[in-house]
Amino acid sequence: MLTLLKFYLWIKTLILDRLNIDVSTLKGIGKKYSKVLEKIGIKTVAELLEYFPRAFSDRTKTVTLQEATASNQVATVKVVVTDHRAIGKKYKQFLKVLIYDGKFYGSLLCFNRNFLANKLIIGNYYYITGKFIYSYNEIQCSTFETEEATDDYKGRILPIYPLTEGLTQNSLRLAIEDALKKYRLEIENELPKIYIEKRSLIPKREALKNVHFPVDFKSFHQAKKTFIYEEFFFQRFFLLKRKEKAEKIKKTRPQIKFSLKKDFLESLPFKLTDYQEIALAEIEKDIFSSYVFSRLLQGDVGSGKTIVALLSMLSVVESGFQCALMVPTEVLATQHYRTIKKLCSSLWLDIALLTGSLSKKERDNVLTGLKTGEIKIVIGTHALFSDDVIYKDLGFVVIDEQHRFGVEQRYQLLSKGDAVDLLLMTATPIPRTLALSLYGDLELTIMRGTIKGRLPVKTWLIDDNEDRIKKMHQWIKDEIIKEDGRAIFVYALIEDSEKSDNKDLYSEYEKLKEVYNELGVGFIHSKISPLEKDKIMEDFRNGVTKVLTATTVVEVGIDVPQANIIIIENAENYGLSTLHQLRGRVGRNNKQGYMVLITKTDELSEEGKQRLSVITKEHDGFKIAEEDLLLRGPGDFIGSRQSGLPDYKFADIRSDLQILEEATEDALDLYKNDSDLNNIENLNTKASFLNRLKTFLNNYQERST
Ligand code: ADP
Ligand code: MG
Repeated sequence: MLTLLKFYLWIKTLILDRLNIDVSTLKGIGKKYSKVLEKIGIKTVAELLEYFPRAFSDRTKTVTLQEATASNQVATVKVVVTDHRAIGKKYKQFLKVLIYDGKFYGSLLCFNRNFLANKLIIGNYYYITGKFIYSYNEIQCSTFETEEATDDYKGRILPIYPLTEGLTQNSLRLAIEDALKKYRLEIENELPKIYIEKRSLIPKREALKNVHFPVDFKSFHQAKKTFIYEEFFFQRFFLLKRKEKAEKIKKTRPQIKFSLKKDFLESLPFKLTDYQEIALAEIEKDIFSSYVFSRLLQGDVGSGKTIVALLSMLSVVESGFQCALMVPTEVLATQHYRTIKKLCSSLWLDIALLTGSLSKKERDNVLTGLKTGEIKIVIGTHALFSDDVIYKDLGFVVIDEQHRFGVEQRYQLLSKGDAVDLLLMTATPIPRTLALSLYGDLELTIMRGTIKGRLPVKTWLIDDNEDRIKKMHQWIKDEIIKEDGRAIFVYALIEDSEKSDNKDLYSEYEKLKEVYNELGVGFIHSKISPLEKDKIMEDFRNGVTKVLTATTVVEVGIDVPQANIIIIENAENYGLSTLHQLRGRVGRNNKQGYMVLITKTDELSEEGKQRLSVITKEHDGFKIAEEDLLLRGPGDFIGSRQSGLPDYKFADIRSDLQILEEATEDALDLYKNDSDLNNIENLNTKASFLNRLKTFLNNYQERST
């Protein structure tokens, strides 16, 4: 039975491969043309059929020349060519084609397209699609497409393809139409039939036709949806398979009494929130399962992820393994190290810090401790996976602010142990569907809610004028003194720059030193060495300086409970997620926090207005993330370089989230019912999946090297 199945599958793969035919077998595509197509990555019929139009010319509805002009839009007219003229200076003449639609006259200006004289023949009828204007006392058009209106021609919707040099609309249309005709029967459904029906998709054969030559726009949209769905579906299925592979790594973790955890909780000055308990329970279940896991813990800024991570680590330690906590910056590493050390002071655990700034001796000590297994928890930057770092028994890696790391770095730490569990944490919440598509190979834990007693940070947008700013400084001063608070001023630039009107840190620091003289003013930015940064943050924490001028280096994870006011200069520069992160720096104890956004309000763009209005009204990081996604798209939102977003061929993740949700649900359903795709009715799907596998692997490989 199995061999028979294999045989079928082989045949099926061949069938799907049958569209892997050279494009030169198509009408109008000779050697020269094949070369042009090859340049844009089209060698086979299959690839040609996936070259989708960028727009359509709707010739089902033609209008008169006058109506076309009045509409002020691209329109299609049916005309007869009445004459050719040459106009312009002698050495720079161009063709003007006179046309008539039965009622009105007009002309086509063929700049640099004199060859059209041979195509637009006097006395013949044509469909002309373009934008017509009234100029020099006549109806004119200079950018247009033509198609001959032969006697049996019925007006239809024609595709307009993106062109490159040497390609023409007509030749592409001809070739694609020919491909659809010649190879129609080779086109098979790749999606399981049940989902095609369930989601009102259309069969592939029809979808391909309708995406190029639709009868109407409704059928085009249906076809487009089918392709988008198909793209998502196979990607999701791929991620499920990949996860399956990862989950096969076995591990043993002896059962424990959770005594470290109990001791720790007893010494903790507060109680965990319900959502922290739930998240912790999920992670503990993973830790003591028999297989290695990867989980993403999402929680808004200040929701208390560190404690959850720490408690998970304590259980791993108790079961006999080492833990590593990796963070993106040294400042954050040091901060975490101190907090954790303090929190664990009653537990007699060996906890170490490993960053690039350690002296040789300090570093050697840490390396020895890790090798002998004496050090149970190590906290650090990417220095944690340098070649010379050897762990005795690494069992658990936590990566904080994980969106700051490339996908590849995730896996580097894992290779430091035999069976290492992975917990990723991020305060850049992304909508669940997007998270699934980005990190479909991870389990997802979402902490929603806030710590009891926390007040939403009051957020104000103020105009950048002298009077207003002066009043603000007075208010900040009063507030700092009254509350023993701290204020952080954030600038987009470190130094004055000719290229930008934005305020810069150094110049403003000098000014603020005058204004806040008695409170102490410090500054911090990315060019300062880690050791100095640490001192600056300590001074700020202890109140030696109560005002800090900074760049967005403070965005990531900095935890100074007394900080109560953050001021963002040139606020229009920042995306929503950055602003939300920055806001997370204040209001961390149960006192009222404030964020002041300063901008020249009358110079704000529409989008800028919208963005800043979202941040003043909305406090839920997840809702802000959704708004940001709509405003800017996922690439910008997550930071395109690190986003790890797959490049979609058809889908736009902003507008197609709904389809992604459907495809995700169905892919999971299929996976549950037939994960190896061995059922007869899924043979096509399997063949298609295997065909796509190479591309998937390449795509994901590229991201991890
Ligand atoms: P984030 O999720 O942004 O990483 P942190 O883990 O830094 O947040 O926590 C923010 C602050 O809240 C820390 O000072 C932490 O000690 C405190 N915290 C965490 N959990 C609780 C809780 N359940 N009750 C009160 N305070 C808490
Ligand atoms: Mg944090």
